[in-house]
Amino acid sequence: MRELEYEAIVIGAGAAGMAAALRIAEGGFRVALVDREDHLGGILMQCIHNGFGLHWFKQELTGPEFAERLAEKVVAAGIDIFLNTTVMDFSVSNGVKTLIACNSEQGVIQFNARAVVLAMGCRERNRGNIGIPGTRPAGIFTAGLAQRLINVDGYVPGKRVVIIGSGDIGLIMARRLSWVGAKVLAVVEILPHPSGITRNIVQCLHDFNIPLYLSHIVSRIEGKDRVEAVTITPLEGGTPEHSKSFRIECDTVLLSVGLIPENELSKKAGVTIGHDTGGPKVDAHLMTSAEGVFACGNVLHVHDLVDFVADESTRCGGYVVDYLRDQIGEEKQGAVTAGANVRYVVPHRYVPGRDTHFSLRSIIVKDRGTLLIKRQGAVIKKKTVQHVKPAEMIYFKMRGSDLPATEGDPAPLEIALE
Ligand SMILES: Cc1cc2nc3c(=O)[nH]c(=O)nc-3n(C[C@H](O)[C@H](O)[C@H](O)COP(=O)(O)OP(=O)(O)OC[C@H]3O[C@@H](n4cnc5c(N)ncnc54)[C@H](O)[C@@H]3O)c2cc1C
Repeated sequence: MRELEYEAIVIGAGAAGMAAALRIAEGGFRVALVDREDHLGGILMQCIHNGFGLHWFKQELTGPEFAERLAEKVVAAGIDIFLNTTVMDFSVSNGVKTLIACNSEQGVIQFNARAVVLAMGCRERNRGNIGIPGTRPAGIFTAGLAQRLINVDGYVPGKRVVIIGSGDIGLIMARRLSWVGAKVLAVVEILPHPSGITRNIVQCLHDFNIPLYLSHIVSRIEGKDRVEAVTITPLEGGTPEHSKSFRIECDTVLLSVGLIPENELSKKAGVTIGHDTGGPKVDAHLMTSAEGVFACGNVLHVHDLVDFVADESTRCGGYVVDYLRDQIGEEKQGAVTAGANVRYVVPHRYVPGRDTHFSLRSIIVKDRGTLLIKRQGAVIKKKTVQHVKPAEMIYFKMRGSDLPATEGDPAPLEIALE
């Protein structure tokens, strides 16, 4: 078994891992970037539509173009890249982080490092996660898998398609399937509002006359060998009204019912996972509960725009540099909590007097909302937010001058929406 020493290891070479590794290398540290796939870029490589990079590169790019720009910098920075290398185990002992990875050519490799960045992205929820009754025929795919089949492998998964869930991946696949000649018969959403961003509802459904059934569920999947039909049932007062059910004949069902941060490895290393995000709980330096283990990108919380992933991950890389230089001091941090109408806020802690970038998700839908930042019962800052909805992450920066130190331990900060 090969044993390699680095100052930092980044697990996952998607947008998050590449941006974090770049910043660590710029700080002058020896960093390894490890990914199980045979390419850099992660999920971006199958997202061949445009709409990426508007904030980060100030240009509209496709996913692979965005990835390529970061990958060129990673290669130019001389970062050691390990592709086809799956990290199987991760442990922390006496400050040393040990990863056991399996490389398709070199066999088992042990990596030791002072710092580790978790950047493993997320995975899709599937039929088991939502428990749809019916038979178990072929023809049921997650939307991301269907995207990979069409865009990377060149297969069209079906001809008559019903999509469950109006998350962004499902919406993008509704358009993609229409372009390759399939008929998308319906998008069925359990919530009374779409789960995807407005831009995708317009460009991927309205432009193709694809019906969106809000407050409806797929109550049954039929078919012996292959999917033959689904039954769609409206919800009234939150319960299925079966007398109003209708049936659509189809050969394929796609699921776009949410993403889950990929944290099996994080759990192995004893990292505390937040129930609100499904990702690690992190302090003001994006450091997890395990000292020297940091997290960024979709493994931390599910993002809708890659630009915010790159931004957060570059900051994360900067904190790793501070940590390796022993510059993450003993400064006291205050708790950050989600208040009314907010599902979660990341990071979970802040340092008084220092600029902090917050990401949060709402649980309400409103054309124009107000963010309320409260401390010790008083509102210390207000901010107007347009188009508030659970699908669109709210991202904002608090200036350190708005977060002055309080007497004693920093007072908890509460972020609410109204
Ligand atoms: C279908 C779809 C459409 C999107 N559309 C847009 C859009 O229009 N505009 C936009 O800005 N954003 C869009 N996004 C969001 C954006 O692309 C993602 O949020 C971002 O790319 C995620 O980056 P990441 O690095 O966190 O995760 P990923 O890209 O998923 O990278 C994680 C990497 O970790 C690796 N990994 C995981 N576990 C291990 C392990 N144990 N060992 C080794 N490697 C491992 C994986 O192989 C993967 O390469 C879209 C996303 C999807 C899925």
